[in-house]
Amino acid sequence: VVARNQRTAEVGIRPHKLGPSIVFAAALVASLIVGLLLWSGFEVDRSALRRDRAVADLVLRQSVERVAHLQESSTVWDDAVRQVHKRPLDMAWLDINLGTWFNEYAGFDEVYILSPRDEPIYAMRGGKRTVLESYIAVEDVVDPMADRLRRTTSIPKPTDGDVAMLSPGVSDLAVLRGRPAIVSLKPIVSDSGDIVQKPGNETIQVSIVYLDKDYFSRIGADYGLSHASYRLVPSNSADETSVPLTTATGRTIGYLVWSPFTPGKSVIRLVGPILLLVLVLFGVITYQLANRLARRTVDLENSRSLAQHQAMHDSLTGLPNRAMFEEHLDSALAHCRRYRTLLALLYIDLDHFKQVNDSLGHPAGDSLIQQVAHRLSLEIRGYDMVARLGGDEFAILLFDPDSPASVARACARIVAELERPFDLAAQQAFIGASIGVALAPRDSLDRHELTRKADIALYQAKFDGRGRYVFFKPCMDENVQMRETINRDLRLALADREQQLKLYYQPVYAAASGRIVAVEALLRWHHPENGIVTPDTFIRTAEESGQIEALGTWVLHKAMADAGNWPGLRISVNVSPIQIRNRTFARTVETILDETGIAPERLELELTETALMSASADVTETLRSLRDLGVACALDDFGTGYSSLSHIRDIAVDRIKIDRSFINTVDTVPGAALVEAIVGLARANGMHLTAEGVETETQLSFLRKVGCHEVQGYFMSQPVSAEAITQLLADEASLPALTQPADERAA
Ligand code: C2E
Ligand code: CA
Ligand code: CA
Repeated sequence: VVARNQRTAEVGIRPHKLGPSIVFAAALVASLIVGLLLWSGFEVDRSALRRDRAVADLVLRQSVERVAHLQESSTVWDDAVRQVHKRPLDMAWLDINLGTWFNEYAGFDEVYILSPRDEPIYAMRGGKRTVLESYIAVEDVVDPMADRLRRTTSIPKPTDGDVAMLSPGVSDLAVLRGRPAIVSLKPIVSDSGDIVQKPGNETIQVSIVYLDKDYFSRIGADYGLSHASYRLVPSNSADETSVPLTTATGRTIGYLVWSPFTPGKSVIRLVGPILLLVLVLFGVITYQLANRLARRTVDLENSRSLAQHQAMHDSLTGLPNRAMFEEHLDSALAHCRRYRTLLALLYIDLDHFKQVNDSLGHPAGDSLIQQVAHRLSLEIRGYDMVARLGGDEFAILLFDPDSPASVARACARIVAELERPFDLAAQQAFIGASIGVALAPRDSLDRHELTRKADIALYQAKFDGRGRYVFFKPCMDENVQMRETINRDLRLALADREQQLKLYYQPVYAAASGRIVAVEALLRWHHPENGIVTPDTFIRTAEESGQIEALGTWVLHKAMADAGNWPGLRISVNVSPIQIRNRTFARTVETILDETGIAPERLELELTETALMSASADVTETLRSLRDLGVACALDDFGTGYSSLSHIRDIAVDRIKIDRSFINTVDTVPGAALVEAIVGLARANGMHLTAEGVETETQLSFLRKVGCHEVQGYFMSQPVSAEAITQLLADEASLPALTQPADERAA
């Protein structure tokens, strides 16, 4: 069912999921953007590289073809055929047409002319004709090529991008003299077709072009391959790319290395930092937004749960309030009905709380309530519930107790616990509590009915003298019904007051002289069916229903009216705390005095401690107004209330009426000592004293002896009708003064 611990758990920060998910989404978007940039950059670079490689391949092939093509400007020529067959050779002619000329004209580095038997008949190197032996250095490469050429008869068909050739030829890349070179062989053939030679028996021109540094930087510049160079091994630098230089036979003779054009990388390099900055900014903003959102969510959650908590809890004690209590009672009763379990409902009312609150102030009262809440919480099990219903009322739900006996034990513990003193700022306070218990299903399974019965039991507990617990019994219901009947009948009585309401008067005697000095007005109700009803039966009910005000006003009026018949006599009237709390009370009294023409000095109001101790400014003001009027105040039932003997001097009254429970005990030693002390203390403080409930001669003489001013009790007279008082006064006047010429006036 309900755990008390819920109270503490309800307020607090709940873990939130919103912030992290937003941050995660932002991070995802950011990494997607970065990833896309990197990927597209790399993709662009890859295709740029593919293009570069294709270009490099083409350039190399074209370079080779170019050499072969250039050769043909001289090798496909009738004159050249004739000249290479002529003996002796015209070296000068060969220089300017087939040899040195090629160096000047096309930049060929070496040129050899091979006889049909592959013997060199002409050699040129670096633009100069040279010795035929220089052919030895290239022989190993050229001889196999010459063999191939002599076996080749067809002219290669031009493919895409190739240059159309006029004659067959063999050309390739090779390493000569330790350097990469283009080697190209062309037969020297007739251009007109007039000179017929046996195929494979032609004279061959060999052209060699070294791929030097200049060559590579030239093609680099022409085709956009920056820092192009030749290397024997491929580059392992990330910034360079290498294309192998392979011969027709598939031999790799080195590598063309260059720094590839990387537009992607450039873009990344350019955009990257900006993008990074934007993303960081985006991240920061997102984070802050998410953070704020999360905080706001948490705040909202908190304030919502706080509001929920406040709606369901009492702010002073943090205990569940009436709303929550009723909710839980309903569900507990449903559980009870369903599973046939026991449920105990305890209504707790603090005794004398009002006095503490009035005399020590509200902060002390609050502290007291908090301490009570704490003690109650410690007395119940974790799954039971204690709630504050308001003021000094608490309720406890005991879920599924073992038996009514265990409920009784719990109640006894609580009563004992609340009887222990409470430490308040200024002093210790003793209060105590009354508990009313109703059990479900025995008493009822309906919330309203069960709470009503717990309330009745509580009322009974208070009625029985407080500081106890009482289980509801069906007969109590009858009491309540009786109270309801009383209320209804009292309302009728007030309407018919001249018939049903009577004032009786009990004489008050001067202890020394025995003369009547005052009368106390006591209300009697002549019920049409029940006969005379004493105030004990109905005053409390009238206070509860609020009828006491009308009743009290009537009493005052009637007493003052009767007082007109008894000149010089003091009239005491009992006043309920409810009456004194009404701000207009002093005015009401004044009006009645005016109307009846009674001197204010003849009226004395009897107030209980509860009324007098009220710290309310209104009550203090009313009391002051009354005394200004000249009306006297007496403290009724002294000794039964909260205040101790030492409190006497703090109470602003003219008279103290010692309660009859004290007078009852004057025949015991401590009782006598107590009464003597009270009398002494009051006299020392300039107060008048009346002893009430004097029933015996002994009591009377004791009171006389200790100096009590006035006495009242059945020993002298019962309360009697107004007519009887008139009679008593007349009788007294005809009698001689009593003995004991004591001086109550001097006292
Ligand atoms: P109280 O003010 O203490 O009144 C004295 C009560 O003690 C009276 O009871 C009286 O009959 C009774 N009594 C007097 N002498 C003796 C005695 O020697 N022995 C015993 N055992 N009792 C004695 P009563 O008239 O039943 O009044 C009861 C209480 O009702 C009063 O107690 C007073 O507090 C209240 N009360 C009576 N009339 C009024 C009234 O008009 N207004 C208000 N607010 N309260 C009233
Ligand atoms: Ca009284
Ligand atoms: Ca009294």
